Amino acid sequence: MDYNCWYECIRGCGTRYSIFDVVYRCETCGGLLEVRHDLAALKQKSAAEWKQTFVDRAFTTAWPYGSGVWGKKEWICPLVTDENIISTYEGNSNLFWAKRFGEELGMNELWVKLCGNSHTGSFKDLGMTVLVSVVNQMISDGKPIKAVACASTGDTSAALAAYGAAAGIPTVILLPKAKVSTAQLIQPIANGATVLSLDTDFDGCMEIVKQLTEDPQIYLANSMNSLRIEGQKTVGIEIVQQFDWEVPDWIILPSGNLGNVRALGNGLKMMKDLGLINRLPRIVCAQAQKANPLYRSYLDGLKELEPVQAQKTSASAIQIGNPVSYERARDTLIEFNGVVEQASEDELANTSAQADRTGLYCCPHTGVALAVMKKLLNQGVINPKERVVVISTAHGLKFSQFKVDYHQNRLAEVDAQFANPPVELKADYGLVRDTIHQLVK
Ligand SMILES: *Cc1c(COP(=O)(O)O)cnc(C)c1O
Ligand SMILES: [Zn+2]
Repeated sequence: MDYNCWYECIRGCGTRYSIFDVVYRCETCGGLLEVRHDLAALKQKSAAEWKQTFVDRAFTTAWPYGSGVWGKKEWICPLVTDENIISTYEGNSNLFWAKRFGEELGMNELWVKLCGNSHTGSFKDLGMTVLVSVVNQMISDGKPIKAVACASTGDTSAALAAYGAAAGIPTVILLPKAKVSTAQLIQPIANGATVLSLDTDFDGCMEIVKQLTEDPQIYLANSMNSLRIEGQKTVGIEIVQQFDWEVPDWIILPSGNLGNVRALGNGLKMMKDLGLINRLPRIVCAQAQKANPLYRSYLDGLKELEPVQAQKTSASAIQIGNPVSYERARDTLIEFNGVVEQASEDELANTSAQADRTGLYCCPHTGVALAVMKKLLNQGVINPKERVVVISTAHGLKFSQFKVDYHQNRLAEVDAQFANPPVELKADYGLVRDTIHQLVK
């Protein structure tokens, strides 16, 4: 069976391109592009057969199908040959049953999808494997691509640098100076990327990278490039697969540039179109109050986006005031009966710490999603009997300074209710014993 995919304008003007063309927007109407698949060809195989194929491939070594992304290759990017694929066997991340945390909140079933348990520590690996594989194929077909570039709030750049290094393709990273964590800064440096630290914020870096990539020799790796969305699309499919093909009631994710919510929606919709599921979950976009353009638009009926100047937030990966994928996200929210809610610095930090005490190790963005979930429970929007999945987008270990500052109660606008600083004592047995008996309850 021959499967096919292509870029198509999301505004419905009908313009199409090959996925091997260097193009990021519709040249007819300026709309964003999206990868579309030949669903008729995919329907030749039954829903039951697809499910079995996906289950059979997971965790195997037959290249590249053991990857959570490439195990679904026909649905993601059938046109790349297996030899050109650059994969770290991303995906297949675990669903954490947050039993204790859920019980503290009176919930029946809370699950956290740990996308940060991945090669570079965030979900960005899922999309980057597809983008870099396509570029690899373009280069081996003789296209004059010199480097792949991105603006980043820290996680996109780590993923691009790692996959670029694995492929032997040069990468260029534009980071906002002093606005990413130490771990995020050192990742692309270690992988040999050309790292430029610019005296601006993410939105400023994005403007410059858009200009840079007008030169077709510099290929754009931001999520405006919809190849990333194709790989990220597997997250929703994986969640449903992990529940033995049952659809949860809610999926909550932290949102910034708004590519991932579109990806989540597209994967679930494809499952419905191909008959693997017969209903859709509701989706919640969780935003930091300091960078909340989508939330503001939601309050106004999602009529339009008014860019804001993003303020400093611990959830630095979503500190974005002018999200590129607003149009894509709006349509997804409408289709999935979606909700947008925001969390303050105090809410995201304290919720993150509260969840950590039940065995999680949350990045601040996951803290935003969990805090928003708490609010929606309190508002009665989410029923505590429903099955809720929170997407944890990065590993907490990338954000050590956030946790150190929290436990020293040094975060701005945060009253650290769960601070647990180490106790400094003289090395004296009796003193240590008495202190332990006093503190351990
Ligand atoms: C990129 C990122 C997000 C936001 O995803 P968008 O597609 O930009 O909405 C959230 N959390 C983390 C940790 C990220 O790296
Ligand atoms: Zn168009």
